[in-house]
Amino acid sequence: MSSEPLPGLYIHIPFCSRKCSYCDFYSVEDTSLIQSYLKALELEARLQKRYWQCTFDSLYLGGGSPSLLPPDKLEELRQILLPYKLASKSEVTVEANPEDVTLEKVDSWVRFGINRVSLGVQSFSQRGLAQGLGRTHSVSQTKGAIGLILKAGLSLSIDLIFGWSGQTPKDWEEDLLCATRCQASHISAYTLTPGPGTKLFLGLEEGFLNPLPEEETIAQLFLMTGEILSAEGFNRYEVSNFAKRGHECRHNLKYWKRVPYLGLGPAAHSFDGIKRYANLSDLTAWSLALDSGRTHRGFIEDITPDQAKLELLLLSLRLSEGLPANKVRDQDKLSELIAGGYLFRDGTRIIPSEKGFLAADYLARELA
Ligand code: SF4
Repeated sequence: MSSEPLPGLYIHIPFCSRKCSYCDFYSVEDTSLIQSYLKALELEARLQKRYWQCTFDSLYLGGGSPSLLPPDKLEELRQILLPYKLASKSEVTVEANPEDVTLEKVDSWVRFGINRVSLGVQSFSQRGLAQGLGRTHSVSQTKGAIGLILKAGLSLSIDLIFGWSGQTPKDWEEDLLCATRCQASHISAYTLTPGPGTKLFLGLEEGFLNPLPEEETIAQLFLMTGEILSAEGFNRYEVSNFAKRGHECRHNLKYWKRVPYLGLGPAAHSFDGIKRYANLSDLTAWSLALDSGRTHRGFIEDITPDQAKLELLLLSLRLSEGLPANKVRDQDKLSELIAGGYLFRDGTRIIPSEKGFLAADYLARELA
């Protein structure tokens, strides 16, 4: 019997009620396009099914804001995905914004088979949400959403962002402690990184927005995250992701371990084990191509065996399980990085330290 991990299925739902100033994920604000999106998605699902006859063990509804889908549209999505085989006990995640979470939506998630919610809390500080991040939800909406998710028995993952203008270490400590107190089993903690071309990026470039904290402050907040969350029983299993034992995100681990995944929807990425490709980030062009029976790719990349080895090395350096030391070509450089406290040995493996996680990009450059 094969012990190969099963692939993951990702659905990009490209609708947001309002574009956040720092976000460069592909989404549109016109929710009147949901019906035509679902029609095109059905065509793409049928087209791709010919190549993906396998069983999946994770399904991830990401975006955009999948939580914007009303129950009847979510049911249509469920019907569209019926031809795809999901293993029993699959991980089925929906990304949700606190302001979208209602009892009716949560009930529709349970009917769909969703068992995990990745909630975009971002901050438990009203000042952080409104001024630091320009988000429209309130802390009380977040608390209401958490209550509904937990009452339905769904596993809760909380997304937080640090490094917003005016944020103090005390603010961040409070955010982390709030997250640990609300029965989350998984916490993602990302540094605020304004994507090029976003409103925040341009505002900072042109100097009409308050600057973000200096690099040293970001490093301090990053290291605090590990200290506080590990004291509360969370393991940093990836640079920005923490979980209670057994609650690591199965779907996202596939990206970091080079397990195949199929992405459907505009801007969705796929990896079949050899090729990596992405749909065009344009809802109209993606739909039109499917209407004429084809897919519209933004890019396709064939990965050579050498590239594959390098990718695995670089991705493993982002994970707490690290990699076998003998996979590193430059053993002198490896010894240097171990002596510098970036990595440590655990039997035959090398594992990033907290300092190593902080310098993940540096490690990748040094060992590439
Ligand atoms: S951060 Fe989330 S809610 Fe905001 S625009 Fe991006 S995908 Fe939409």
